[in-house]
Amino acid sequence: MNKENNTISTFDNIKNEVLDSIDSFIYAKDLSGKYTYANQALLDLFEKKLADVIGFDDSHFYDLVISKQLKINDDLVMNKAIRVESEEKNFIKAKNETRIYKVVKKPLYRSDGSVDGMSGISTDITVEKKLQEQVSNQSYLLDTMLNNIDAHIYVKDCERTFLYVNSRVAELFGDKAENIMGKKDTEILPKEIAEHFYQSDKQVFETNKKQVIEETTHHEDGDTFHYISTKIPFNQPDRLPALIGFSSDVTELYKLKEEFKKLANTDPLTNLYNRRYLTEQAEQEYHRAKRYSLSLTVMTIDIDHFKSINDKFGHPAGDQVLIAVAQQLKTNLRKIDILARIGGEEFSILLPETSAAAGMKLAERIRTEQSNLKIVGDWPGEIKLSVSIGVSSFLSDDESFDTMFSRADKALYQAKNYSRNKVMYL
Ligand code: GH3
Ligand code: MG
Ligand code: MG
Repeated sequence: MNKENNTISTFDNIKNEVLDSIDSFIYAKDLSGKYTYANQALLDLFEKKLADVIGFDDSHFYDLVISKQLKINDDLVMNKAIRVESEEKNFIKAKNETRIYKVVKKPLYRSDGSVDGMSGISTDITVEKKLQEQVSNQSYLLDTMLNNIDAHIYVKDCERTFLYVNSRVAELFGDKAENIMGKKDTEILPKEIAEHFYQSDKQVFETNKKQVIEETTHHEDGDTFHYISTKIPFNQPDRLPALIGFSSDVTELYKLKEEFKKLANTDPLTNLYNRRYLTEQAEQEYHRAKRYSLSLTVMTIDIDHFKSINDKFGHPAGDQVLIAVAQQLKTNLRKIDILARIGGEEFSILLPETSAAAGMKLAERIRTEQSNLKIVGDWPGEIKLSVSIGVSSFLSDDESFDTMFSRADKALYQAKNYSRNKVMYL
């Protein structure tokens, strides 16, 4: 049988035209590896005519290493009579480039059932492989970033199924990411916590808009954590609506913010509130008193002849006296009262829902207590002092807190002028 006849008989039910119009390489080889058929695509690749391919093996078209590799698979197909599916990397001499093929090789049989050769179809998947490689590189990059970022990141659909969680979320939930993905939040988290998260998830699905939520969670060990969570809608064709959530632990920042707030409102020597905080709160109390016709009283307390204490015992002793006076003042406070150091040796107490009479009574008690103080420290003997106090209460025609506050100041001035160690009301 000559080669031409063999080729035609192998494929005699298939039109060459069809095979030639296919982009994949289609070929047949005999038991010795020589081509018995090659379609047009393969001839184009080799840049050969059919007559220059038929009867030749791969060593004519590929370099030695590749042609040897090709032969290993070919022999496997023919010797074991099995179908082999593989990926082959071929350096094409004629084009001076490496291409990747998906290859399916099958044995060809004689009528008596013995193997006569093989057929093969190789599809060039170089472009797809490159794309696949790009996608896998990108996915590796994304994974690395998502798992190392200092935030909890997850994707959840509207039926509450986690589609993605990064390693921080997995850590928080105490399971592996792959065990969490595909499960509903209710299967992973305690019911209460799952519901808590779902409330803000629902807002995203209902509005289809980004939601920014400040969340506070209390842990069993008593620790409190603060999070800022951003949840954005994530909609893909033919998929359930979903959301991407980003939660950052802002506990440290939150604590710092609280610390700054406290510092801004605190007098560092006595640890009492400062004037700023007192006036801020007083404005609010003033409006509340006006609106609901509540009583409101304020008193200003000034240490008498404090300058002489400084002069006699020194400035550091003066500081200790201020601390001792503050301590004593604190003992008289209710929860709603606000005590502040509003100047050098001047204090003020804001007394919400307190009448003038009750305020005067308290002021008198404070005056007595302070005059009974015997302050000992790093100085000879005891330091004794007295205070003068000005008291005023909210009047319905007061224009602002300042109006009533300056009455207390005036009352204090009168107390000083009168005798000191005195309470006056205006
Ligand atoms: P008066 O009875 O009229 O109130 O007399 P006074 O001496 O208490 O009042 P004066 O306003 O003349 O003096 C207040 C003094 O308080 C002057 C200042 O040096 C002192 N002083 C202000 N702030 C501090 C402080 O933080 N520590 C100490 N040790 N002294 C302070
Ligand atoms: Mg003073
Ligand atoms: Mg004074």
